[in-house]
Amino acid sequence: MSRVLEPDPGVYKTLLESTKAIPWQIDWKTLEFSYIGPQIEELLGWEPTSWVSVQDWAARMHEEDREQVVNFCVSQSQAGVDHEADYRALTKDGRYVWIRDVVHVVRNEQGEVESLIGFMFDISERKQTEQKLIELQKELEQLSFKDGLTGVANRRMFDSVMEMEWLNAKRTRQPLSLIMVDIDYFKQYNDYYGHLQGDDCLKRVSQALSDSASRARDFVARFGGEEFVLVLPESNAEAAAAVAERCRKAIFKLQIPHEKSDISQLLSISLGVGTVIPGQHDQLLDFINTVDQRLYLAKQNGRNCIMSQDA
Ligand code: GH3
Ligand code: MG
Ligand code: MG
Repeated sequence: MSRVLEPDPGVYKTLLESTKAIPWQIDWKTLEFSYIGPQIEELLGWEPTSWVSVQDWAARMHEEDREQVVNFCVSQSQAGVDHEADYRALTKDGRYVWIRDVVHVVRNEQGEVESLIGFMFDISERKQTEQKLIELQKELEQLSFKDGLTGVANRRMFDSVMEMEWLNAKRTRQPLSLIMVDIDYFKQYNDYYGHLQGDDCLKRVSQALSDSASRARDFVARFGGEEFVLVLPESNAEAAAAVAERCRKAIFKLQIPHEKSDISQLLSISLGVGTVIPGQHDQLLDFINTVDQRLYLAKQNGRNCIMSQDA
């Protein structure tokens, strides 16, 4: 014969009131608490007798959570579905504690909802960890869009921004300009001055380029190695040419000695420039290639110069 294990009367109550989770019961007809564990007072400061109806529960919730959580819990309960909700509960001394409320819907023999019973869990620590993780994630996201050496945006970010501005220009029928920059004889620079000084040079060049494009939506990125790009939304060819010339002068102004350059005693750059109002059938990649070709032409033309047209 199997033995049925039953606790002594009163054990349930002792168990319920000695756990960290806070038990409660609400009568569905009156929407009043028929029970709430005494632990509630330790956690939130409100005496158990002060929890009269669901109004008290809703009123002691952070207002940013209230509407959504109350609506959710009411509709789930009406549908007779067990559910859980996270929200910030107000303490008697005016702080907020993150709570997870796990709710079981109790039905009578006819299948009608009779009452709700549940447990409130203190999840503040978990929420804090979650918050820290979210912040870390954000930081990581930013880092992964930033070039580690120069601090300007990286190639990945350029791809996203360029695509966005391309679509925007297509929609608004505004000219979009792109400048591609390549440092002249940078291999010789590295070979002669060393890689570390080469890195330092890249930092100064990226800063000077950033300073040369000053409108709010102007965007500078390191395209790769010693190549940079500037995206200039709502800028026509004339404006782009002016920015390109400003860039060229800004690099000269840095007065970085370059003994091994064939064309100047100072570090210089070559630039390719393009402007487009993209039509329905134009491809972004073709536009980028056109500008890249112009940069190549600038190199062929003797470097330290700007190419704004095809040959
Ligand atoms: P050109 O005038 O035709 O552009 O000649 P170049 O020597 O600048 O062109 P090339 O593309 O052959 O050389 C690019 C050099 O840039 C190669 C490498 O030494 C240097 N470089 C690329 N990335 C970095 C970097 O992160 N740090 C440093 N210090 N140098 C880099
Ligand atoms: Mg290059
Ligand atoms: Mg180069």
